[in-house]
Amino acid sequence: MYGVALRITPAQMRAIAAQLYVELLDGGYTEVCEFHYLHHDTDGKAYADPAAMSFALADAAADAGVGLTLLPTLYERAGFQAEGLREDQRRFRTTVDEVLAIQRAVRAAARPLLACGAALHSLRAVRPESLRTLAARSDGPLHIHVAEQMAEVRDCLADSGTRPIEWLLRHAGMDARWQLVHATHSVPAEVEGVAACGAGVVLCPATEANLGDGVPDLPGWLAAGVPLSLGSDSQVVRDWPEELRWLEYAQRLVRQERNVAAAPGQEPSTAARLFERMGAGGGRAMGAKRWGLAAGARADLLVLDLADPALLGLPGENLLDGLVFAAPTRAFARVMVAGRWVAPDRAAIATRYAQAMQELWSKASA
Ligand SMILES: [Zn+2]
Repeated sequence: MYGVALRITPAQMRAIAAQLYVELLDGGYTEVCEFHYLHHDTDGKAYADPAAMSFALADAAADAGVGLTLLPTLYERAGFQAEGLREDQRRFRTTVDEVLAIQRAVRAAARPLLACGAALHSLRAVRPESLRTLAARSDGPLHIHVAEQMAEVRDCLADSGTRPIEWLLRHAGMDARWQLVHATHSVPAEVEGVAACGAGVVLCPATEANLGDGVPDLPGWLAAGVPLSLGSDSQVVRDWPEELRWLEYAQRLVRQERNVAAAPGQEPSTAARLFERMGAGGGRAMGAKRWGLAAGARADLLVLDLADPALLGLPGENLLDGLVFAAPTRAFARVMVAGRWVAPDRAAIATRYAQAMQELWSKASA
């Protein structure tokens, strides 16, 4: 990852992101919140346009037809006690002012389906005073990776005597703009605290499985009413039904129970409850004022193929369960973003993607 991150150009970034965004549309995502920290040129200096990499992603989203919320990310240091970043992290280095300048430039472009918030890489990667300054001066959604792995919890405890989510609750002045990405390792008091301040949690089940992070307290987050959304994060999976399947199955295996996410005492549709919660929480994570099947909300629609053998004949209330648990990684028949059926130029995007990958990996072996 670092090797490619140190070589990639804005044009290659656009080509690869466009292919990714087409695959995400096929997998049923209509909006991407891009946690973006590769800002600078290969030597670590700012591009002539400091937002060049951000606009490469905006161009890619426009190529694909997906909505994009850019989250330029503050990344200052390599660890809790580190002064700065490592040499191989030079392209990520940012200050609060630089993050805010990118945010202003993206908003000033006033492009359709393009929004901008901000992100903090993690507690270990930003200084506490910078975290508070960015939170005070930025508006729109504010995302942070937190409590993803036990090593981070231990490092945070060693550094501050508090757990990562606990630290945020005590020191960050969190509100409903905040989105805690992963939040894998929590205790009940932290779940209650997050619910009380209105922040959301972004679960990334396939990535957390891929990285061996752990299993989140899904029943706790659901019961506390915390807004939840789904992160494709590392993009090992680009399909939300598969992410929901991972999320629910990990819970079943760990707890030796079934239908963990289903609402207690109601029809046990696990997938419908997760879809409803993730849809609402996703709208907040992207900073939408209205979201879902509601007057004034953006017209984003997914069309299922009811002739699919896994869905044939299912009553409506069971369709989502069929989709999530019995129809692995089927592409949606059609996808609408903001009132338009998406129809990207797949051949051109695939050609540019193939060229970018060949360029990047031929240099790796040279
Ligand atoms: Zn992540």
